[in-house]
Amino acid sequence: MTDTATRPDVPAAADPRLGDALKVALDGPYHALRQKARDSLTRDEILRDPTLSMEEARAWTLTALQHLSSKGYGNTGFVLPDRAADPAAVVTGFEALAHGDLSLVIKAGVQYGLWGGAIEGLGTDEQIARWMPDIVTATHLGCFAMTEMGHGSDVANIETTLTYDPATDEIVVDSPTASATKTYIGNAARHGTSAAVFGQLWVDGTCHGVHCVVVPFRQVVKGKGVDLPGCTSGDNGHKGGLLGVDNGTLRFDHVRVPRANLLSRYGGVADDGTYSSEISSAGKRFFTMLGTLVRGRVCVGAGAAIAGRRALSIATRYALRRRQFPNPDGDGEVVLLDYLWHQRRLLPGIAKAYAFGFANNDLIELLAKSKAEPVDDDFQRSLESRAAGLKAAQSRWANDVVQVCREACGGAGFISENQLTLLRTDVDIFATFEGDNTVLMQLVARGLLTGYRETWTGLDRRETVTKTADMVARMVLERTAGRGAVDALVARARRVSNEAGVLDRGWQVLMFDERERHVLESLARRYQQAMRMPKGARFAAINELQDHLLTLARVHTDRLVLGSFVAGIEACEDQSAKRILNTLCDLYVIDNLEADRAWFTDHNFMTQARSKSLTKTLNHLCAELRPDALALVEGLGVPAEWLGSAMLED
Ligand SMILES: Cc1cc2nc3c(=O)[nH]c(=O)nc-3n(C[C@H](O)[C@H](O)[C@H](O)COP(=O)(O)OP(=O)(O)OC[C@H]3O[C@@H](n4cnc5c(N)ncnc54)[C@H](O)[C@@H]3O)c2cc1C
Repeated sequence: MTDTATRPDVPAAADPRLGDALKVALDGPYHALRQKARDSLTRDEILRDPTLSMEEARAWTLTALQHLSSKGYGNTGFVLPDRAADPAAVVTGFEALAHGDLSLVIKAGVQYGLWGGAIEGLGTDEQIARWMPDIVTATHLGCFAMTEMGHGSDVANIETTLTYDPATDEIVVDSPTASATKTYIGNAARHGTSAAVFGQLWVDGTCHGVHCVVVPFRQVVKGKGVDLPGCTSGDNGHKGGLLGVDNGTLRFDHVRVPRANLLSRYGGVADDGTYSSEISSAGKRFFTMLGTLVRGRVCVGAGAAIAGRRALSIATRYALRRRQFPNPDGDGEVVLLDYLWHQRRLLPGIAKAYAFGFANNDLIELLAKSKAEPVDDDFQRSLESRAAGLKAAQSRWANDVVQVCREACGGAGFISENQLTLLRTDVDIFATFEGDNTVLMQLVARGLLTGYRETWTGLDRRETVTKTADMVARMVLERTAGRGAVDALVARARRVSNEAGVLDRGWQVLMFDERERHVLESLARRYQQAMRMPKGARFAAINELQDHLLTLARVHTDRLVLGSFVAGIEACEDQSAKRILNTLCDLYVIDNLEADRAWFTDHNFMTQARSKSLTKTLNHLCAELRPDALALVEGLGVPAEWLGSAMLED
């Protein structure tokens, strides 16, 4: 523990009503669900001692998972034979757990969300009834075994084979090469006994693409895990974070499981030994199957955002009590958060945390709708694209903001008992698993281009511009709640854009829209040319566009996030909270525009003078929000008693 004599002083309590009102606004339609999830957990259940060794951390995490399961945590929102899934409850439950130890939330995510999610998404009703009850109680621990040594991001080309043998009516699971070894698989090193194994399904000499089969691979004998015949598990060992999760490898040598273990919602082998699927195209079937797993991506993005909120809550509270250097005006020493640069480090981060919070609310709404009613392909594509963009944006941001917070706490930030170093190592991998961020962003950008490729073929430059403008107009129409208000603001800003101030919300939205439109339009043109290149020159031509693709994904996601923020403010009923949210939204926008100001001036969307005024405005907004800093972090919803940071405890 830190020496109490050197403890900094404690900030005065913020207006408790304001912090609560902000929390209610940010929780949005999911306030009751989120509050219930937060109320169902205690600090001791979810916080782990950051100094535990890997072995101790694994043991603690398993015990904590089993304890939570005994309390019914795994029953919340997951499908059961007599009950439909409730995705909003799953995501908010995951978020609540992410306030604590990230190994625990990922261990729970592997058990319920991935292992259970594979059965829920890809299994038939009978298969759900067979496996889910023991999964949600964590009595049947399992794995989601997709990644292989040879193929991680490129899942379509995994090498594991699942071959139907009509003689025995079994599926033969095999790792034909060393690179087919499953790796980084959660629960594989120690605790799992079965795995949802992904591989290429072969029936009667024909490959039907990636499918998934349940394979028991380990049994517990006298408390020790022993590999079943033909199965070889390994341990990935010590990692750069998430020490409580036992990630490992799995290899299969012609392991036989009954045909009934093949998860067959989208395609399976009938009694007569023939393959059948309602989706005739193997490519479409593959993407449909992956699409059912989108909830995991939503959870990981939201979990990363909670980690960022937690770091901001710790660093801001510390910045309100820690003092350095005498005040030249003679009024004692200066509290850190009174320094302009300290405000610039923390307050834009808080604004972004709010922005992502509102965007997640909209995403959860789309996810819930996709499970509650039949949705068309466009809806599903837009849900998946939004989930991918937000996962990438939030996990990138979380990594950056946790480091900023660590540094903002000086040496204290580096001491493990203050929680930031553990958070930093644990949140790192959120940028890679559930889809590598770079790969996901390309997926978002490609999605925006898909369907328009044919439209562009044969069009001249002018026609391409018109078509792309139509497309952007349609995208603007996709705005979620509060659409009417945003569109009215933009329409007005279009009329007055030269005179509008940088705090005019319509102008701000217009800038985000125009940036995306321009980036998309120029990319569409370049992509069209690249696709016309002869074979042999095509990779180079498309590869040259990769930075452009990533920019498109970023600015597209930024636009969606801003739309959600504006809608969230519209829906806020508390006037003081609404006023603060409006200032936070200004800060989010100005910070974003300032980071891209070279682009805006290069492309003649902003004069030099206006671009320069962004920095001044940023400083003013930070100063305006400074007095409410404590309420701002209270509004982020991380209970103070869960921060577990020794430097904040009296
Ligand atoms: C702790 C941990 C837990 C995990 N848990 C599981 C689990 O339970 N189950 C499971 O199946 N998997 C799991 N994974 C695997 C994880 O999903 C993969 O690591 C991830 O999908 C990335 O694959 P890869 O590691 O092969 O990286 P690669 O795909 O090899 O990527 C390496 C780098 O190349 C870049 N890259 C790749 N393709 C492109 C491209 N087209 N253009 C530009 N850049 C590119 C990427 O951005 C990345 O920086 C886990 C991983 C870890 C580390």
